[in-house]
Amino acid sequence: MTTDGDGRLEAALDLLRARGGRVTSARRAVLSALLEHQEHASAEALAEVVHASHPDVHLSTVYRTLDAFEQLGVVTHVHLGHGRAIYHLTDEIHHHAVCERCGAVVQLPLALFAQLHHRLLDDFGFEVDAHHFALVGRCARCLGGTGATGDRPLATADGEDRRSLARRPASGASP
Ligand SMILES: [Zn+2]
Ligand SMILES: [Zn+2]
Ligand SMILES: [Zn+2]
Repeated sequence: MTTDGDGRLEAALDLLRARGGRVTSARRAVLSALLEHQEHASAEALAEVVHASHPDVHLSTVYRTLDAFEQLGVVTHVHLGHGRAIYHLTDEIHHHAVCERCGAVVQLPLALFAQLHHRLLDDFGFEVDAHHFALVGRCARCLGGTGATGDRPLATADGEDRRSLARRPASGASP
């Protein structure tokens, strides 16, 4: 539908070739399904789209194809909620927040987590892969449009508390 989509498909195919991956009609179909499915598509949803135009391509092939794409760095996956994985081309990485009530997915800019990323690395020597899992919570709609502004007055030393918590190893953090 969009010429932009064609450009992205060609770019993804170029990347695939550059990394030594073969371009087959099944692989092309999976990539184009991924682009068509602008929303966050599971392997099952992609298989349905692919199967419509390529009846010989089954779910197991789509899984294998997505695995191969991931190994080649063309595609990546994210878990929304309880392990449900969705797929992305690696040219559009962002963070995700998913509403535990209605399932709405909110896209968040990478920059939002830059500071957390650096703090974890500096203070704990831990490099977080913050976009592998979505943050879970409630979306603005499910919150009823109230209480989301975060401007309620807090007691003193909120920042200090957070800092001292962050320095401590994770003892007592799990329930
Ligand atoms: Zn996304
Ligand atoms: Zn919601
Ligand atoms: Zn995973």
